[in-house]
Amino acid sequence: MGVKPTENIQTARQNQLETADVTIPAHKTCGGEEQESHEVFILKKQEGTVCERIARSFELQHLSSGQFLRESLGGGGEAGVLAQQYLERGLLVPDHVITRVMMAELEKRREQHWLLDGFPRTLGQAKALDGICELDLVISLNIPFETLKDRLSARWVHPASGRVYNMDFNPPHTQGVDDLTGEPLVQREEDRPEAVAARLRKYKDAAKPVIELYKSRGILHSFSGTETNKIWPYVYTLLSSRIPPILPDEEH
Ligand code: AMP
Repeated sequence: MGVKPTENIQTARQNQLETADVTIPAHKTCGGEEQESHEVFILKKQEGTVCERIARSFELQHLSSGQFLRESLGGGGEAGVLAQQYLERGLLVPDHVITRVMMAELEKRREQHWLLDGFPRTLGQAKALDGICELDLVISLNIPFETLKDRLSARWVHPASGRVYNMDFNPPHTQGVDDLTGEPLVQREEDRPEAVAARLRKYKDAAKPVIELYKSRGILHSFSGTETNKIWPYVYTLLSSRIPPILPDEEH
């Protein structure tokens, strides 16, 4: 992580202050062309809720690599076929597959403001991203392994619609069934506890050089904690200094 893994919220605040002078260019270079004020953010994904809050509060498109991959599964395309076996086993999809998917999605959104969630997770992916965008800010959320495992294992989905429930934070009205259709919910292979634990270990190893890279560029901001509500005010304060929010902090 950009800072010590044991760091608590208080020291996260200090880090935030220490790194408050990170330069945010008024114009970013994307795809070799000078573009109008793109705010480009990236998060080391482990916490969907924080990404959703950021996207809502700062009016950014929330681009989730996991979501793009899941959508590609149904299409019968090459990326989907290649990705399926990795997704089912909770493994990182090979760089060339995910990079192709993400580059295509980012190309479509050159003029937009977005938040990247879950990409890049390896140094190879970070280098590919470097080729098309200059990032302003990287946020890394340091959440204890056990907390993440429990949280991610609590995820159940309604396969037909893709609606996601969390048995702890956002349970369905009736246990085990979708609120709108009454159809059964399933736990995806990738959300089972064993798959989650294996994936978190691999992710951590793969992400280390990515974190180091952004740290060396001075654009990494790390926050630690187990509860989204406690981390959130610090993330919000940091981002508010860069982009005018459209929602006040209290909205959450
Ligand atoms: P997520 O929804 O971000 O947890 O991603 C779900 C699954 O998609 C992961 O378990 C990986 O198998 C795959 N995936 C998502 N993003 C990436 C990435 N950047 N690199 C490799 N695999 C990824």
